[in-house]
Amino acid sequence: MSKGRKTVRDPVCGMAVAPGQHALVHLQMEFAFCSEHCRAHFLAHPHLYIGYPGVPAARQQGKSVLKRRRLQLSRPLSAEGASIVEAVLRELMGVVQVSVAGEVIEISYDLLQVSADDIEVALTAAGVRLGQGWTERLQRACTHQVEEWEIEGLEVIPPRRSDRR
Ligand SMILES: [Zn+2]
Repeated sequence: MSKGRKTVRDPVCGMAVAPGQHALVHLQMEFAFCSEHCRAHFLAHPHLYIGYPGVPAARQQGKSVLKRRRLQLSRPLSAEGASIVEAVLRELMGVVQVSVAGEVIEISYDLLQVSADDIEVALTAAGVRLGQGWTERLQRACTHQVEEWEIEGLEVIPPRRSDRR
């Protein structure tokens, strides 16, 4: 029953996906995504992933923006808890490396695919409580803001008409 259906590339993570999956239309082109996660990242900053004629986006140039962070938990995890948390984080698109030991999570990820905010949301959903001291909270809020600025700065802008003659 195969209709010889082609796959298309998820512009965020690069996975091959079925056309129409989690799809959206941007600049009259249809894009498909592996998950709501990638779709949401695209919607927030499409021009990290899709450029303009003659102006490739960061992701189209094969760029990744690796971040390494250390997250402090409110209390140490058991060995079993730590391996569950590691598995949850590895599932996240764009996470490159994770290690959980006691009350510290070390994580590396590609900011073009996943943000500190996403990671914290996933941790909270898994029932993990991050450190609640004011310095820790302030540091996390600061990280979100800095990542947002960095992402905004990486989005490509349309070429000016006067540049093309
Ligand atoms: Zn994806």
